[in-house]
Amino acid sequence: MSRSQKPNTPKGSSTDPTQLKAIAHAAVDWFSKHSRDLPWRRTRIAYRIWISECMLQQTQVTTVIPYYEKFLKRFPDVQSLAASELDEVYQLWAGLGYYRRARQLHAAALEVVASGQLPFPADRDAIAKLPGIGRYTANAIASFAYDQPCGIVEANTQRLYARLIGCTEPLTQTPTQRKLWDFAEAIVSAWPRASGELNQALMEIGSQVCSPKAPACQRCPLQRHCKAHLTGMSDVIPAAKPKKTITELREIGFLICDPQGRWLLRRRQSSERWAGLWDFPRYDCTECQGDSSSLEHAMKEFGNVYGSKPRVSSECLSVKHSVTRYRILLRCYLAELDGAGAIDKKRVAARDETIRWCQTQELDLLGLSSSARKVADWLKKREF
Ligand code: SF4
Repeated sequence: MSRSQKPNTPKGSSTDPTQLKAIAHAAVDWFSKHSRDLPWRRTRIAYRIWISECMLQQTQVTTVIPYYEKFLKRFPDVQSLAASELDEVYQLWAGLGYYRRARQLHAAALEVVASGQLPFPADRDAIAKLPGIGRYTANAIASFAYDQPCGIVEANTQRLYARLIGCTEPLTQTPTQRKLWDFAEAIVSAWPRASGELNQALMEIGSQVCSPKAPACQRCPLQRHCKAHLTGMSDVIPAAKPKKTITELREIGFLICDPQGRWLLRRRQSSERWAGLWDFPRYDCTECQGDSSSLEHAMKEFGNVYGSKPRVSSECLSVKHSVTRYRILLRCYLAELDGAGAIDKKRVAARDETIRWCQTQELDLLGLSSSARKVADWLKKREF
């Protein structure tokens, strides 16, 4: 329906308990017939739900499933996760991206074990105090695992709620978020039965029916309660997001091999992107003019940290990588030093650098940044 056509008038306010109850009933009924069978829906164990929620942030369901299963095989409970080395967590996380999630997961496991809240904190407020757990994740765990009456707002439900209540403002605005959270809490309060099932039903309708483009209103169980549909606004709600400005970055990386055929790696520092992960030494050259000036800059930066300049032989590989609003082009050069002894250890320590030399086959065992993983895969296929 176009905006020029006369819309139907929806009945009831977005917080009318009778209407909310009717929406909840329709959602749960639909969910009982149409829900997808996902591994984290087969459990009420809070630890498992927490792992799935953490992995699902910014990542597609189909990508997450094998990671989730492998992770739980290695770390079946919070104690085993807390007892592990962070490097091993990174290793199981490699490929999912957004490594801060893995770091916070590990930190939260340590906190749960230290506080003795085993097998997992049992209420929403205690869960919300853990590192890396925001309002959505805390409410999702409390609701899915314990049926506590907590509303949820994430990508799928915020679009669904905005359409149900006919909210035309951009979703990122604070007053809009407040309105959506109010709706989320109100619908859960209006439904006297299991909040976990209701929230999952609403998420599933958001994901499988009320899609961002071309929502399937004709088969939607909430059609008769939806203001956007009834007023012909489902194609214009939610308001379009402002376009993300992409910043192009250029980096030069050195693949430095010692006489024993080992590669030089450094652990990325806490102030850097992909903090805690291992990487090849690489330097931002976005501001440099031309190839030789970029290479000269990268060699100088390397020398400042390690006390010697790499002897570069050839450019061997380019890796393109996108992260948040950045598009990074990493150009890699094969290089060598005079041996591991050429590194100035005092200078390295003074700069809080952690380095190691690794054989090619050992690279599989390290938590590498995604772009470093691409370089490592390339090294494995090469013969030097
Ligand atoms: S009727 Fe259409 S716009 Fe409204 S909730 Fe259902 S799919 Fe979304």
